[in-house]
Amino acid sequence: MKVLKFGGTSVGKPQRMHHVASLITSDDSPKLVVLSAISGTTNTLVNIDQALAEGKAEIAQQLIDDLYQHYQQFLQELYQEPDALQKGKSVVDDHFGLLKRLQGQDYQPEFEKEILAQGELLSTKLFTIYLKAKGVAVSLLPALDFMAIDANHEPVIEVIEKKLKALLSADEGSGLFITQGYICRNHEGNIDNLKRGGSDYSASLIGAAIKAEEVQIWTDIDGMHNNDPRIVEKTFPVSRLSFDEAAELSYFGAKILHPASIWPAQKFNIPVRLLNTMQPEAAGTFISQDTSEDEIKAIAAKDGIVAIKIKSSRMLLAYGFLRKVFEVFEKYCTPIDMITTSEVAVSLTIDDTTNLQPILDELQGFGKVEVDRDQTIICIVGAQVAGNRGIVRKAFDSIDKVPIRMISFGGSKNNISILIDTKFKKPVLDRLNIGLFSIDLIE
Ligand code: ASP
Ligand code: MG
Repeated sequence: MKVLKFGGTSVGKPQRMHHVASLITSDDSPKLVVLSAISGTTNTLVNIDQALAEGKAEIAQQLIDDLYQHYQQFLQELYQEPDALQKGKSVVDDHFGLLKRLQGQDYQPEFEKEILAQGELLSTKLFTIYLKAKGVAVSLLPALDFMAIDANHEPVIEVIEKKLKALLSADEGSGLFITQGYICRNHEGNIDNLKRGGSDYSASLIGAAIKAEEVQIWTDIDGMHNNDPRIVEKTFPVSRLSFDEAAELSYFGAKILHPASIWPAQKFNIPVRLLNTMQPEAAGTFISQDTSEDEIKAIAAKDGIVAIKIKSSRMLLAYGFLRKVFEVFEKYCTPIDMITTSEVAVSLTIDDTTNLQPILDELQGFGKVEVDRDQTIICIVGAQVAGNRGIVRKAFDSIDKVPIRMISFGGSKNNISILIDTKFKKPVLDRLNIGLFSIDLIE
């Protein structure tokens, strides 16, 4: 069985849903289809929850009304058959009924997860009604019946596997299943989610749980590109990546794939294919254990980075200094991305600034602390990039006019990371595109 995940824009318009329906029914191989919410819905649900939490009843009401209208319009274009339209309307009324009920009560923090779950519940139910009206045999599998996370918010693959396999084997053999991305139940049995963009993660967890033949992530671009296509002209899709390369790229800014979605696939060796709904015949990107020999695969950039330098002569010849520094970050649950050290100073970067102030306050105790905000990590990825002198020279030659704040080299053989001020991001990405991919030659 293959797992196919379609993102918000792939189901964002009624015509796109029609198109996805024809894609998944073009042959009758068994498929488990994971859907995101219709694009824009989750953002609106976040705003609704926020308005309710802040007691802004009128704003919440307006947002709910506008979203309801959007769905009414959507239904009209989605269905041709009156019966399907009727069913769709009652699904929409059900889910908006829940939003209105919550709105009428005193706000509780538990509302948030329930509100955010409505997007995927709606998209999958509306899509299933559409398929059934077309005469397609399909079963809707409720993700809330199998997708489980533990008290640390980590998915529990064994539970997912057991519950999902039971659901699949209870089915009468339609061979086509639809389920919700993103949503799950937590250790207390309450509705929860895998965080924003988590539908990719759902697909990969499902693929791992059922040992799928492959996981396909369908979006609106033809695979992972060699450089950020929103910023740089003349980028191209990378045809093959190893799991490690894809993990580095998605973590360091390639928006096409949720960074957590690599490990389940990697652990169970399930290949992942990134495909374009608008151009289904394009090869996309194939992610697997092996990789092609190309030494350089892609460049990604991650903004919103803060660099922290701790300078202390106490570090000189001392042991245990780094541990004390790292413990501060651990205490505030803040991951560190890059680290460089000299004998008297350590520089590191974070992107989660929620607890920046208390972190800085504690670090002051170890020495002089300096902070640089608005930094960007540029990450160059490929098999052996860090071991290839030619690539290293070309990379640094092409950006020799740009001040570099940190370099991380040798942490893994397939990554070189450079920290720069965000204002240099575009020129750096442009020059690396020319310098590393000889882009001007590929017209
Ligand atoms: N609908 C959720 C979001 O917008 C999950 C996803 O689309 O991946 O974040
Ligand atoms: Mg996404």
